[in-house]
Amino acid sequence: MGADAEGESVQVFVRVRPHNSDELRQGTSESCVKPHGTRGISCCDSRGSKSYTFDQVLFDTCQQDVFEVAGMPMVDNVMAGYNSSIFAYGQTGAGKTYTMLGNISNGPGGPHENGHDQLGYNCKCSMLEIYNESITDLLVPSATNLHIREDLQKGCFVDGLTDELVANVDEVMALMRRGAEHRHTGETRMNRESSRSHSVFTCIVEKSSKGGSGGVTSVICSRLNLIDLAGSERVRSGGMGGSQVQGEHFKETVKINQSLTTLGRVITELVDSQRRGSGRSKHIPYRDSRLTFLLQDSLGGNAKTMIIANISPSSLNAAETSSTLAFVQRAK
Ligand code: ADP
Ligand code: MG
Repeated sequence: MGADAEGESVQVFVRVRPHNSDELRQGTSESCVKPHGTRGISCCDSRGSKSYTFDQVLFDTCQQDVFEVAGMPMVDNVMAGYNSSIFAYGQTGAGKTYTMLGNISNGPGGPHENGHDQLGYNCKCSMLEIYNESITDLLVPSATNLHIREDLQKGCFVDGLTDELVANVDEVMALMRRGAEHRHTGETRMNRESSRSHSVFTCIVEKSSKGGSGGVTSVICSRLNLIDLAGSERVRSGGMGGSQVQGEHFKETVKINQSLTTLGRVITELVDSQRRGSGRSKHIPYRDSRLTFLLQDSLGGNAKTMIIANISPSSLNAAETSSTLAFVQRAK
């Protein structure tokens, strides 16, 4: 188990949050999901029961546990030079933001090694939001409509996005807090919830090491992306699932649908091409959404990807829970 450097490139974890008071108040503590060992889960919806196997299923786990099984191995990957991404997927209210940020005032942090004998680390962070396929800097929210550019050296990057040097975990957490705050309170955000946007927190680690006699310094640059995805409840195969959305909402819904569907397709293609042993294939549709275009250097190739599917245990949410499990199953 674990997202170690030698392991699979795409891992899928499922995290089941506890019933919330609303679910309990609406009359049932009945669960639509059941664990089967540490990797199996079955889900019962109106169409019957279905079983799934993932890399790990987390029932009743605290943030520290999640950090140890999911976060820490990904941090190790980044420190070893692999670009790494953790996606939180699931319907609104299923626990994506909680999984990513926890109780942000005291949750566990990211990489915090300040140096080794011969190694120096430089760490800088940025945070952006993709809403309606438009990119906003969450650290400097007046910077909107930013563009993605491609550079031979740097790979894909967001032109004009602020990144800030950090020296320790507290500084990382302060930036996350600031970005998360802007996600909720930005001026243009009066009429919408954060559940309609993706947020991407990126930590770039530069590791320089001095070569022995020649004293040559080499720099390895790798990044950790923490992606809190838009709520998946609008994703339906073949359309909008009959929901009556119109106007701006309709446009928004189409864009969320497109970008989550593209993410699913990219990941499925990556897993398939890896299974075929053909490495990175040119058919991977990175360009079909801003999110996958932006993250293409962190998806596929040597990159490590983890999806944490967040689900509610309540039978009230059985249809969404089942569609979440089916969606992420495609990555296995
Ligand atoms: P999402 O980001 O997927 O919309 P949230 O992370 O905001 O969902 O979670 C919805 C609510 O459930 C929040 O009040 C959050 O504190 C709570 N919650 C989510 N996951 C857990 C968990 N594992 N343990 C306890 N409370 C949780
Ligand atoms: Mg959220």
